[in-house]
Amino acid sequence: MKKVSLEDKNFRIFIESAKIQEAIDAVSFKINNDYAKSNPIFICVLNGSFMFASDLIKRFNHDCEVTFLKVASYEGTQSTGSIKELIGINESISDRHVIIVEDIVDTGATLEAVVNELELLGPKSIKVSTLLYKPLAYKRTIPIDYAAIEVGNEFLVGYGLDYNGLGRNLEEIYIIEE
Ligand code: 5GP
Ligand code: MG
Repeated sequence: MKKVSLEDKNFRIFIESAKIQEAIDAVSFKINNDYAKSNPIFICVLNGSFMFASDLIKRFNHDCEVTFLKVASYEGTQSTGSIKELIGINESISDRHVIIVEDIVDTGATLEAVVNELELLGPKSIKVSTLLYKPLAYKRTIPIDYAAIEVGNEFLVGYGLDYNGLGRNLEEIYIIEE
């Protein structure tokens, strides 16, 4: 049983590399079918999605464009809590088919902020692909069109996902050990 420690926490393997790749094969098969003729633009949400984005997009066999954005969170002045601002979208996405590439969708707050901002830029369509999806935690209504792997509410690291900045380089996904 493979284990890693990151800072003060121990993790054990949860999803093997081969399983991750199989799951990406399945979603990329669907995306290839759905976007064969529409020259989509993949918008990858940094930092966590970089590994998934690479593996997903290299399996896409038609014309496409790729860009990246970052979501900066800061506390708002009102009681609504954290406000999220997008950094780095320079491409025009007006009238384009957009595929958002996320590492993980948990409550959906980040995703909702991203979709709301992108919608202001007038895309033809927006769909969502994510490596990991936590349906039990999801509290929004935006459809999760291409979820590679559904998981429970546990905290995971590896394959792009971090614990305090560490673990993004791991090829497998690990779960925290209590
Ligand atoms: P949401 O806005 O959907 O609640 O949360 C999305 C963000 O929370 C992700 O982009 C990620 O940064 C973080 N997150 C949620 N669940 C996990 C997890 O299991 N592991 C790690 N490393 N980050 C997570
Ligand atoms: Mg993320």
